Amino acid sequence: MIDYLIVGAGFSGLTAAEQLCRKYGKTCLVVDKRAHIGGNCYDCKDEHGVLIHPYGPHYFRTNSDEVFQYLSQFTRWIPGNYHVLAYAKDQFWSFPVNLETFEQYLGRPSSTEEMEAWLKEHCESFDDIQNSEQAVLSRFGREFYTLFFEGYTLKQWQKHPRELAASVCGRIPLRTVRDGRYVSETYQVLPADGYTRLFENMVDACGTRLQLHLNTDYRDVVSSTPHRHLIFTGPIDTYFDYQHGPLPYRTLRFEREFHSGDHLPGNLHLGIPEGFIQPSVQVNYPGEEPWTRCVEAKHITHQRIAGSTLIREFPETYEVGKEPYYPIPFPESREIYTQYKQLAEKLDQVTFMGRLGTYAYLNMDQVVTSALRKSKRLIEGM
Ligand SMILES: Cc1cc2nc3c(=O)[nH]c(=O)nc-3n(C[C@H](O)[C@H](O)[C@H](O)COP(=O)(O)OP(=O)(O)OC[C@H]3O[C@@H](n4cnc5c(N)ncnc54)[C@H](O)[C@@H]3O)c2cc1C
Repeated sequence: MIDYLIVGAGFSGLTAAEQLCRKYGKTCLVVDKRAHIGGNCYDCKDEHGVLIHPYGPHYFRTNSDEVFQYLSQFTRWIPGNYHVLAYAKDQFWSFPVNLETFEQYLGRPSSTEEMEAWLKEHCESFDDIQNSEQAVLSRFGREFYTLFFEGYTLKQWQKHPRELAASVCGRIPLRTVRDGRYVSETYQVLPADGYTRLFENMVDACGTRLQLHLNTDYRDVVSSTPHRHLIFTGPIDTYFDYQHGPLPYRTLRFEREFHSGDHLPGNLHLGIPEGFIQPSVQVNYPGEEPWTRCVEAKHITHQRIAGSTLIREFPETYEVGKEPYYPIPFPESREIYTQYKQLAEKLDQVTFMGRLGTYAYLNMDQVVTSALRKSKRLIEGM
C-alpha cells in the first residue's frame, strides 16, 4: 500500500511528491503517460543538439520568495532576459507597448510626457468595460489595438476581442517609460541546467520513498495499485469520463525549423546577433501569418552551439485526443468546469491540482505555490 498515487509528473505532481516524501515521510508513486518528466515545462535537445522548449517557451518569473527559495534547492539559476518583439507592417516593434514602441510609431524620439498626452487623446472611454476590445481601446487607443491586439487575439482564441472577457487582453502591460521587458516580476530567471534537470533533482531528492513510472496512463494502474489517496493533475473532465462533456481548450501545433551555424551571419540592421535567426527569443505575429509566435530559445538558454532552431506556434481547435494547452476563458467553459468541481468536492480520497486538474491558466510559480499548500493541507488537515 502506498500513501499517494500521483497522476502527472509536471510541476504540480512533482512538487506534491517532493513535499509528501521528503518533508512528510510518505510514500508516493508518480505516473505520467508521457515518456518524460516535467509536463509542459520539459526541455530537451533536438536532433541537432539545440536545447528547446518543445511545448512552448517557458519564462520562469515570480514575486514569491517562498517559491524562488523552494525551487533553488533543486537548481542554480541564470538571468531570464525575456525580450519579446512584435512583427507588423514589415518591421519589428518593441513589445509590450512602451516608450520605445511609441517612438517607433512616431518615427522619432519622444518622451514619457508626450506619450501620456497622446494616450489621453487617443484612448477611448467606456462607462463600463465589457470586453477585451474595450479594455485595449481604453488603455492603448485604436492604433495600437489594430496593430498588435486584434489579429493576434483572433488567431489565438478564434474569437474577436469583442467576444472575450476584458481580463483576457486587460492584463497586458503598458509602459510609458523605456522598459521593453516582457514581464515585471521580481525574479526573472531560468534553471541554469534546464527545467528537466531541475525535475530530475526533485525526483532524486525523494530517494526510495518515490517511485516514478513514465509511459503509464493512470487508468491502467489505478485499480491494481493500492493507495490511500489519489492526487490528480491531469484534465479533470477525463477523470470523470466527460460526464458533463469535454472542457473547451485551445491546442497548439508546433513547427520546428533548424538553421545550420554556417548560414547564421546575423544582421546588424535588424538586431540579429551572429549565430541567431531572429532578434529576440520571441516574436509575436499579429498579422496575416497563420502562426502567432516564433520562438528561438537559444536567446535565453545561452547555449553555446553554432546552429539554432526556431519553433512556430499555430493555435488550433481542440478535440479530445489532442493536447489541451489553454483553458478557454469564456463563461460557458466556467459553467462546465463548475459541474466537474462539484463532483470533485464529493470525493474525499482524491485531490485535484494544477493547470489541468483545476482548469485554470496558471503560471509555473502559481502551480508550485498551490501544490505546496495542498500537500500541507493533506498532511495537516488544514
Ligand atoms: C504554450 C505554453 C506556454 C507557457 N509558458 C509559460 C511561461 O512562460 N511561464 C510560466 O510560468 N508558465 C507558462 N505556462 C504554464 C505552465 O506550462 C504551467 O504552469 C505548468 O506546466 C503546469 O504544471 P502542471 O503540473 O499543473 O501541468 P502539466 O505540466 O500539464 O502536467 C500534467 C501532466 O499530467 C500528465 N497526465 C495527464 N493525464 C494523464 C493520465 N491519464 N495518466 C498519466 N498522466 C497524465 C500529462 O502527461 C502531464 O505531463 C505555459 C503553458 C503553455 C501551454
